[in-house]
Amino acid sequence: MQLLNGNLVSKQIKLEIKKEVDELIAKGIKRPHLAAILVGNDGASITYVAAKEKDCKEVGFDSTVLKFNESITEAELLNEVEKINANTEIDGLIVQLPLPKHINEKKITETISWKKDVDGFHPYNVGLMFKGLPCFLPATPYGVIKLLEHYNIDTTGKNCVVIGRSDIVGKPMSALMLNKNCTVTICHSKTVDMSSFTQKADIIIAAVGIPNYLKAEMIKEGAIVIDVGITRVNDESEKGYKLIGDVDFENVSKKAAFITPVPGGVGPMTRVALLLNTLLSVKTN
Ligand code: NAP
Repeated sequence: MQLLNGNLVSKQIKLEIKKEVDELIAKGIKRPHLAAILVGNDGASITYVAAKEKDCKEVGFDSTVLKFNESITEAELLNEVEKINANTEIDGLIVQLPLPKHINEKKITETISWKKDVDGFHPYNVGLMFKGLPCFLPATPYGVIKLLEHYNIDTTGKNCVVIGRSDIVGKPMSALMLNKNCTVTICHSKTVDMSSFTQKADIIIAAVGIPNYLKAEMIKEGAIVIDVGITRVNDESEKGYKLIGDVDFENVSKKAAFITPVPGGVGPMTRVALLLNTLLSVKTN
């Protein structure tokens, strides 16, 4: 079994990004600038945005976090998005989800200019992705593709099972694996006899959100297993919680040819994919 080490690969990609930033500056082109909108005081959201700020600093990007009180109205937030759309200093905008219930997330994400939509959630970018055209790819599936490419994993003709059909992971992941010449099956909560699909899969991508969902008996010997799942479980550690993936790592790793750990697999690749999209925005806009 070989570990697909997202920590290591993301570090290497960050060094390459930093080098490209230095070249942009030397050529007199601008420094990439990522803006993030954070509404309310959700602990996980604050942590994610802080991590994105730290990543920007590491590769030499400018970053701005716009923090708003939970009571901000939808109209006010839409206005803030429009202001960033018009700000030529800012290359990429992400709105940290979830938003408070009185705000329509779809309306907000669709108001972000598709040219600054570095999360790749805008329907225009989604359409380009499905057609296999250049665009901002959603960060998590993009990160998975970069990880597979780094380890030279041949995807052509492989049976790939994606478990999960969300707009941010499962659906785009299946489109990208199709573009990589896999035969793709998308499974979900209504799938009957899950094992009959996963046991035939050369590549399994689990994006379910149920700790240890994928068991060793559900996979074939030598499968490639990508664990997207992250569930926070409280524990006695200093942090007060630990992250658990969708894959029963201890047992699945004994059968798999390649496997991602949690943490240290898909998570850091997701973060670096956002940086790649922000860099792309500067190069293409
Ligand atoms: P989501 O929107 O809740 O989607 C979960 C998917 O799993 C749904 O399509 C659901 O099917 C399916 N599902 C639920 N229970 C199932 C079951 N018993 N058997 C088979 N399929 C089942 O979640 P998401 O946003 O896609 O995220 C999935 C996981 O990835 C979460 O743990 C999330 O925290 C994690 N995540 C990690 C990263 C990262 O950077 N590593 C990024 C994003 C998300 P239905 O459609 O039928 O309901």
